[in-house]
Amino acid sequence: MAKINNPIEENNFKEELLELSKIQEEAKRCLNCKAPRCSLMCPMDCEPHRFIALLNKGDVEEAAKFVYTKNPLSYICGYICPSERYCEKNCLRGRIDSVIKVREIHRFLGSLNSRFEEEFKPLKNKSILIVGGGPIGLIIANKMAKHGLKSTILEKSSYLGGALRNQIPAFRLPASVIDHDLNPLLNERIEIKLKMTFGKDATYDDVKDKYDAIIFTTGLDKPRTYDFMLDHPKVILAQDFLRMCRHDLEIETYDKIVVIGGSDTAMDCLASAKKIAKEVVGVYRREKERLRANKESLEMGFKAADDFIFNRTPLRFDEVGNMVFKNYYGEDEETIPASLYVLAIGVLIDDSYLKDFFEFEEDSIKCKKIPNAFYAGDMSSSDKTLVSALSTVEEVVKEIFEYLKLD
Ligand SMILES: Cc1cc2nc3c(=O)[nH]c(=O)nc-3n(C[C@H](O)[C@H](O)[C@H](O)COP(=O)(O)OP(=O)(O)OC[C@H]3O[C@@H](n4cnc5c(N)ncnc54)[C@H](O)[C@@H]3O)c2cc1C
Repeated sequence: MAKINNPIEENNFKEELLELSKIQEEAKRCLNCKAPRCSLMCPMDCEPHRFIALLNKGDVEEAAKFVYTKNPLSYICGYICPSERYCEKNCLRGRIDSVIKVREIHRFLGSLNSRFEEEFKPLKNKSILIVGGGPIGLIIANKMAKHGLKSTILEKSSYLGGALRNQIPAFRLPASVIDHDLNPLLNERIEIKLKMTFGKDATYDDVKDKYDAIIFTTGLDKPRTYDFMLDHPKVILAQDFLRMCRHDLEIETYDKIVVIGGSDTAMDCLASAKKIAKEVVGVYRREKERLRANKESLEMGFKAADDFIFNRTPLRFDEVGNMVFKNYYGEDEETIPASLYVLAIGVLIDDSYLKDFFEFEEDSIKCKKIPNAFYAGDMSSSDKTLVSALSTVEEVVKEIFEYLKLD
């Protein structure tokens, strides 16, 4: 094993469609359906049929404004949204030849910087604490600021952007795209406190009487694991692995990396591992057909993996430190040697610092314990995608305003 300069570079691999004429050609393919399925399928109501119609009228600036008003993270979503399961899923054009590339159009319009002067209401005498400086924390802070409320964001890492910046590989989502959408959300009504972990650097007692409302947007931060793997030198959690791949300037290389899991995160790990290991193997506990990742992620993961082994679940380490797996449907065992095992078997809400605020049932929040506590984003979304997380924002903002008796 040796350290090398991190080879995982940003790569604007899909910029070729960022060209107006091609976007207009694509928009013209739209059948202008009466009941537009693209819009019906979008969790956050981006209404693609409307911005496509504006483009087809030649009104590019209006189309871009519309996209921004609906979704201030539209450039980011234009890169990473799993559109195949949302707006592009049932596009009728697909019955004739191929579905409209809605995400590509969205990305183009999101790139146009068509932000306009937004109204900021006069300051009110209320202040909000937002725990978690991921995309949802920032969007909520921005909405609060526009409504005249100051907010403080506590973020445990040294940067803002959450999973977008610390886990999604840079070759899928370049930092320039993240900055493009997130930086304009900040303003002088938002105070940022980085390297502040709630539960450690600030606690329930510190904040409970200091703010009018406390909103948790801390995402899913508690990785599932197996007891026998804890602190083993050959095991790394997917979250730590992706963070390392995205941020470390120098990075270890390996002979063989085994990635355990079948989610989108596992596919990101496989693709990142390929850049730093001679051999990369995926292991999933069920059959291939039951892999949970999106089609696009699966293509990326399978392209990266030298081998993919199915129906195997981790069991123990053998005496020389290789992992032994058990057949998911039987008793036979198989040792799969590796120099590093990346564990990508899911994440939960970290309840350790939330129990003063909410009651939990199994691994989910059941109800509030104090009336001025709220939560949003991945913590409450069903799909664990950015648009799904964004779709929780309006509701929580409404709840907070009702609670604070503001309009
Ligand atoms: C590997 C990976 C790949 C993904 N790929 C896609 C994709 O292709 N397409 C897609 O649409 N979505 C994808 N997602 C999901 C998307 O990133 C999330 O839906 C989105 O980031 C949710 O935003 P959030 O603000 O709710 O949470 P997060 O982005 O997780 O942000 C939470 C923030 O809270 C901070 N925090 C946590 N605990 C504390 C604490 N105790 N004190 C202070 N701060 C704290 C964290 O450091 C983090 O910055 C992916 C996620 C992962 C992990």
